Amino acid sequence: MTEFLFRSDSYLRSAPARVKAVSPEGGIVLDRTIFYASSGGQPGDTGFLETADGSRIAIAATVHPEGDKTQIVHLSAEGAPALAPGDGVTAVIDWDRRYRLMRMHTALHLLSVVFPFPVTGGSIGEDKGRLDFDMPEVPDNLTELEARLNEMASGSHAVTEEWITDAEMAANANLIKTMKVKPPTGQGRVRLIRIGEVDLQPCGGTHVRDTGEIGPLKLGKIEKKGAINRRVALLFG
Ligand SMILES: [Zn+2]
Repeated sequence: MTEFLFRSDSYLRSAPARVKAVSPEGGIVLDRTIFYASSGGQPGDTGFLETADGSRIAIAATVHPEGDKTQIVHLSAEGAPALAPGDGVTAVIDWDRRYRLMRMHTALHLLSVVFPFPVTGGSIGEDKGRLDFDMPEVPDNLTELEARLNEMASGSHAVTEEWITDAEMAANANLIKTMKVKPPTGQGRVRLIRIGEVDLQPCGGTHVRDTGEIGPLKLGKIEKKGAINRRVALLFG
């Protein structure tokens, strides 16, 4: 198992690690990592691994192996120097990119507050994000919703994580009622992300620690994706 350092501290930009395995295709598995792997609509991190002699192995993408969320594979760019199990490296992520993704990701939690409809999908980009909602009609007060969104972001609400067990979840039916997304069960425990008094939902991604870091937001296009499905885009203002 790889230790997911970004879970407890999403602000780590670099960290020492040891190579556990290297696949023939150049996939590198570390004992611990700060690289988030593509999941839940958030793209995986890019960056590099620096070896003891100072050479750098560029990481073009980070993924979970098919069907295994407990492992993370760092995909090196073609022609990168080879690593071997046991090698010590310093992992460094493209922080500017990740920080934009963290800001947009956290902003999408807020978007789900101003659009209180079931979320059916989503995706996070550096400049733009989107959520798909089961929302039969487009609200006619979009200007007001955008203002509420910005009010929440600039309100400097603390973003914190908490873990609860499946049993605790089952024993607290009221908790599920406060959440828009039903948490996945069967893994023993669930990670919840709380945004002050405004939002609580299960999520495994990386977030800013204060909504004030998000900055100004702008609602984008709202597209019809099905009889009752609408795609709402969100941009940095
Ligand atoms: Zn999240």
